[in-house]
Amino acid sequence: MFDTLKRWLNRARRSEIATPTPELWARVEARLPFLDFLPEEARLRLRALAVAFLGEKEFYGARGLRINDDIMLSIALQACLLILKRGLAAYRGWVGIIVYPGDFVVPRQVMDEAGIVHEYNDQLLGEARRDGPVIVAWFDGGSPGPGVNVIVHEFAHKLDMANGNADGFPRLLPGMSRRQWADVFTTAYGRLCRLDDSGIETILDPYAASNPGEFFAVASEAFFETPLSLRAEFPAVYAQLSAYYGLDTAEGEAQASGFRFATGFGMGRNTSENSNGGGDRMKP
Ligand SMILES: [Zn+2]
Repeated sequence: MFDTLKRWLNRARRSEIATPTPELWARVEARLPFLDFLPEEARLRLRALAVAFLGEKEFYGARGLRINDDIMLSIALQACLLILKRGLAAYRGWVGIIVYPGDFVVPRQVMDEAGIVHEYNDQLLGEARRDGPVIVAWFDGGSPGPGVNVIVHEFAHKLDMANGNADGFPRLLPGMSRRQWADVFTTAYGRLCRLDDSGIETILDPYAASNPGEFFAVASEAFFETPLSLRAEFPAVYAQLSAYYGLDTAEGEAQASGFRFATGFGMGRNTSENSNGGGDRMKP
């Protein structure tokens, strides 16, 4: 599959951004407002990790997309958000990042029980392969919608796949309880599925109800993009992700907003987040 894809792709590009200029940092980070939820030392560590990430990975532009420094640095910063606690070793074993201009279609085949092969087109925002590349859609504004983060989503899958399938049960940090993780996520996933069946929206994109792996990836998007809302609606999930990613993004968002909210004090969702919950999202 990867070989076939390569024919469509522009030449691989390895970053030559050894030291991004202050202008480049400023331009790229201004499009990632949720970075303001991180404490200063984490932001500095993130920058260093992003530069190291760029030294290890190769970028391919698909469908004529020209990979530039802004795209590479933006993807590197967002991918490295997830490994601030783990370091680059968490992303070893693969190098390719394929970037599409906007969402893309992948032809699929499935065989039904009668042995008949059905072909269809899957419209995607991204895809992560266990030992292969990460594929992401690039949107010039940085995100296809409020609270949606394609990069965080796919790299969360990549972390999840480091110990097997993308099943929502990634390798935890020392000191975290596997049992507690399983209990919290199983309960929250069940609750989300029941709400989804009843047509009730939550802070999480309904795509999270697809399976536990998608729940983890979508919850990770919310953890970085809209953490106060995630903490208000799914406090136990927020607490597990906070331990997993080694960050208290909700506290950071509260401080960045100039307000302090007690844990569990519900802000609810704002309308712009609701407007994205209509299920028109392509399957990442
Ligand atoms: Zn996904």
